[in-house]
Amino acid sequence: MDIGKNPPTTCFEKWRKRLVLIPIPAQGHISPIMQLAKALHLKGFSITVAQTKFSYFSPLDDFTDFQFITILESLPESDLENLGKILLALKLNKECHVGFKECLGQLLLQHEFKEKQDELVPEFHPLRYRDFPDSRRAPLESITELYRNAVDKRTASSVIINTSSCLESSSLFCLQESLEIPQKQNSVIFVGLGSLALMEINEVMEMVSGLAASNQNFLWVIRPGSIRCSEWLESLPDEFIKWAPQKEVLAHPAIGGFWSHCGWNSTLESLGEGVPMICKPFTGDQKVNARYMECVWKIGMQVEGDPDRGAVERAVRRLMVCEEGEVTRMRAVTLKKKLRRSVRSGGSSHNSLEEFVNFLRTL
Ligand code: UDP
Repeated sequence: MDIGKNPPTTCFEKWRKRLVLIPIPAQGHISPIMQLAKALHLKGFSITVAQTKFSYFSPLDDFTDFQFITILESLPESDLENLGKILLALKLNKECHVGFKECLGQLLLQHEFKEKQDELVPEFHPLRYRDFPDSRRAPLESITELYRNAVDKRTASSVIINTSSCLESSSLFCLQESLEIPQKQNSVIFVGLGSLALMEINEVMEMVSGLAASNQNFLWVIRPGSIRCSEWLESLPDEFIKWAPQKEVLAHPAIGGFWSHCGWNSTLESLGEGVPMICKPFTGDQKVNARYMECVWKIGMQVEGDPDRGAVERAVRRLMVCEEGEVTRMRAVTLKKKLRRSVRSGGSSHNSLEEFVNFLRTL
């Protein structure tokens, strides 16, 4: 039976065809079939011997090049005694139908992996298929099932991972996302540039590089049409966020900073949620708002001109990591409380609205 190529141990081995031999469970059959197997092996074939518990053959040194697999069946051992060889062989043929197909399936899968050994596994950069954890006694599916069980949130109230974010930050971030583990407070910088601002592709590249170099988690809304000459943005897959409910995002406890173009709505939303900003105004009143954020309310840090990746990285780290950022964040929370008081009954904004409504009633 041709089930594909053998593991590429040597140039010659790579092109061997594999034969699967199934001896009838009787010693008189096993010995000749093993001799046949040896002869075929010498002729250049790879050999797999499939057997059940009734014909279990312990591989001797002679057969180290052969692969032995066991077909699972559920016949009682007493059948050998009770049925005799012929009836047992007939019964085994029927019983082993499914088990044998499964064995073959696994075998084919193993070979297909083996053939792709040097390829990179998508989503697991830089791992190649050959780097995956393996075991002589269990297929890859069983190993991954074991790992999946270990992080099954239905049975585990918490998961401890024996690593550090400075070693595996992107994997840990993906894991947090897929397990929907709440993110650490103030650990993510949100990047949103409103509904109109346009960037040049080189500005975007500096921004991407700077954000990555800052080593901070970020969430960046890239609006289709917001980068000049980049129609490809329209067709980005769903993982790329093209529009976010900004006010709700800013209200999330994981958000520790907002890289903003300082549109007035964005500025108010950030103030209202107590999120400090990195201000990168583009045009119009955005420059006024940015200046107020930095110099008057002191809860924003302005980046001047067209920041290169170094400037982006420094600004992000200044807000997200440095003590100065922490102080700025505390001021933002204080101002948020003041703003909230102003819209409650008796607060200045609340009163102004009441006055306006009363005035309208007099007209
Ligand atoms: N906005 C949003 N999701 C986005 C981008 C923008 O909800 O992905 C909202 C944001 O919350 C704000 C408005 O769009 O209310 C943008 O107004 P702003 O004055 O900040 O900037 P503009 O778009 O006028 O430049």
